[in-house]
Amino acid sequence: MYLGELEEFLGTLGQPRFRAKQIFKWLHSGVCDFDEMTDIPKALRETLKEKCYIADVKIVKRFKSKIDDTVKYLYSLYDGEYIESVLMKYNHGYTVCVSTQVGCRMGCSFCASGINGLSRNLTASEILSQIMAAERDNNIRVSNVVMMGMGEPLDNFDNSVRFLKLVSDDNGMNIGLRHISLSTSGVVSGIYKLAELSLPITLSVSLHAPNDELRSSIMPVNKKWNIDALLKACKDYQKITTRRISFEYALISGVTDTDECAIELAGRLKGIMSHINLIPVNPVVENSYKKPDRNRILHFKELLESKGITATVRRTLGSDINASCGQLRRNAKEGDKNADIQ
Ligand code: SAH
Ligand code: SF4
Repeated sequence: MYLGELEEFLGTLGQPRFRAKQIFKWLHSGVCDFDEMTDIPKALRETLKEKCYIADVKIVKRFKSKIDDTVKYLYSLYDGEYIESVLMKYNHGYTVCVSTQVGCRMGCSFCASGINGLSRNLTASEILSQIMAAERDNNIRVSNVVMMGMGEPLDNFDNSVRFLKLVSDDNGMNIGLRHISLSTSGVVSGIYKLAELSLPITLSVSLHAPNDELRSSIMPVNKKWNIDALLKACKDYQKITTRRISFEYALISGVTDTDECAIELAGRLKGIMSHINLIPVNPVVENSYKKPDRNRILHFKELLESKGITATVRRTLGSDINASCGQLRRNAKEGDKNADIQ
């Protein structure tokens, strides 16, 4: 609930407004038990226990990278579903990569999250809890969030926006919207809806291919909204919000990493205020995609730059713990819980 909704709800219980702020602060400091809310009268705590529940995620597995400080979590939800999050440490602080759905219905061929389709949307509280659980587990404060875990945030639009408003609330976790990125596979209708809200988040668009034939073959969403429609939405988004968009481009050996792709990509992105992140694809057991070798990656980047497009090769964090999303949940669902846990 937003603070205003909580005030309204507590009003129906005959409670004064200030109780809402007290409870809101407890909830957003990660407290999951009404009895820990020590400044709330016992009778009210009992009523809340009867009428309400606090969404929480439980840590099922924790994988710590031996190479860097990345931690990958497998969480379980109240209904037995599993989701994944990743905690990453950068010089500027901690970032959590959150999931927005259980599974995903977009069906991108390189991604493990979508293999079994969508189970359900996550609530805003379940998205928030992923950050709180990581904070509690490591006794840290998270400063940045990327909505790049399992699921398509714009396919769960209302809960994603509710999450954004709650996580940035100054009575709550107070993580500035400027410190949050939302990644979409190109749900054009959602990009326009988001533009209307003009939130100062960073929008990341997963482009991954420079032409419709190739993009449709790896990302079915392209059959509904093709590259022209997507790039027009990006330009309109920038006009409305004045925010720069960043593009993600997965480099798949022999598929998206050719010279022709780089040249075509540079042509398509001309005139769009943008930055492109090159992501060497993470191999997934269910497909045979491979990442290109180092030289090919650098060559692709140089080709883009020679055409005036700035590009960064994403550093792969937690490469020893399979820190890209979707695979842990699949293993858990299939009953294989034998992987190392620390
Ligand atoms: N559904 C949203 C956000 C979650 S996916 C989206 O698609 O943008 C987050 C990012 O991980 C996307 O850029 C996605 O294309 C990328 N991704 C998915 N599977 C991957 C893999 N096997 N290797 C590298 N990147 C992958
Ligand atoms: Fe869904 Fe994103 Fe994975 Fe595509 S890449 S299946 S949109 S989570």
